[in-house]
Amino acid sequence: MKVTFPHMGQAYLAIKGLLDDLGIEVVVPPPITQKTLEIGTKLSPEMACLPLKINIGNYIESIEKGADTIIITGSCGPCRFGYYGVVQKEILNDLGYDVDMIIFDPPNSDYKAFIDRIRRLAGKNSWASIAQAFNRASTIVKEADEMLDIALKKRAREASRGDTDSKLYRFEREVMGKHGTREILETIRKYKVILSQVEENPEIWPLKIGLVGEIYTLIEPYVNLNIERKLGYMGVEVCRSLTLNEWVKVHLSLDIKHRVRHKRILKKAAPYLNLCVGGHAWQTIANSVYYSECGLDGIIQIMPFGCMPEIVAESILPKVSQDYGTPIMTLVVDEMTGEAGYFTRLEAFVDLLEQKRRRRADEYQESIFRG
Ligand code: SF4
Repeated sequence: MKVTFPHMGQAYLAIKGLLDDLGIEVVVPPPITQKTLEIGTKLSPEMACLPLKINIGNYIESIEKGADTIIITGSCGPCRFGYYGVVQKEILNDLGYDVDMIIFDPPNSDYKAFIDRIRRLAGKNSWASIAQAFNRASTIVKEADEMLDIALKKRAREASRGDTDSKLYRFEREVMGKHGTREILETIRKYKVILSQVEENPEIWPLKIGLVGEIYTLIEPYVNLNIERKLGYMGVEVCRSLTLNEWVKVHLSLDIKHRVRHKRILKKAAPYLNLCVGGHAWQTIANSVYYSECGLDGIIQIMPFGCMPEIVAESILPKVSQDYGTPIMTLVVDEMTGEAGYFTRLEAFVDLLEQKRRRRADEYQESIFRG
């Protein structure tokens, strides 16, 4: 069995480590490029969501490298993600690829099915070694996200432009040569230290922008045109509402404290939206309210073209913006998105936030003079 999976940000670190530990041969898909997108777009239904198209591109590139089994996480409706796995399998079968697909639905309602699938994947490994490998993989998810958070803070303040990214680039090259969760974790820990030593310019006072929206678009840098890097270079510190670690904690872990916190934030959406309409639209509204209450300078919603849940959220966000006075902008991405227009909108939004902050500072000074 040669197992592959779709890319989604740094998920490959934990999945590769886990499969290595279980003694399963793993084919890490090549990094997403224009070619991946072109393959996926050509072979998927025109109206399919952008993440599905890129997944298909990942699979084909991995199958060409010898993969014969695909693992993906599943979900229930009401949006199209509910039948992602089935549709993807049909597409591959129609194209004549004879691959096995193991879909891991969140175990919330059916633990038995979840456990059966793990057994199917893990073969003869003992439950103890499976549990340990899962545990270390979830630590990778947590620490890789912590590493990214350090990078987000540093990039906005770095004394020498590009310093943070050159270290992240070195990390990506180094970690690909590692085998198993232990080696991958060691590398992440090493680079957490390296990144925290990036020199800062004390004169930089970054704006803070929260990113909300559809989870794949938020987490996969190729799809969001590396928005975190672009904002960082504009001197903006990015706060991420959805991360892999957050997803794992909510869906796979028994961390009660985190689940309670997650529910408390979801409740913040109640005046605007009080039920799941698919995807992460509910979280988009809740996190926008939360970020507004925290006093962030602005919020950006990112979503794939035609994403139904996020369209619902988009129609509600102007009311949140009006109620809290927080500027909110929506960016839609698809296979035709051009960098120039996208970045012009980003720059205009950051300019607006800077002006707003200057105006507030001037008003504050005036009020001090007036006594
Ligand atoms: S959340 Fe949006 S992009 Fe994701 S599957 Fe649902 S409709 Fe498609």
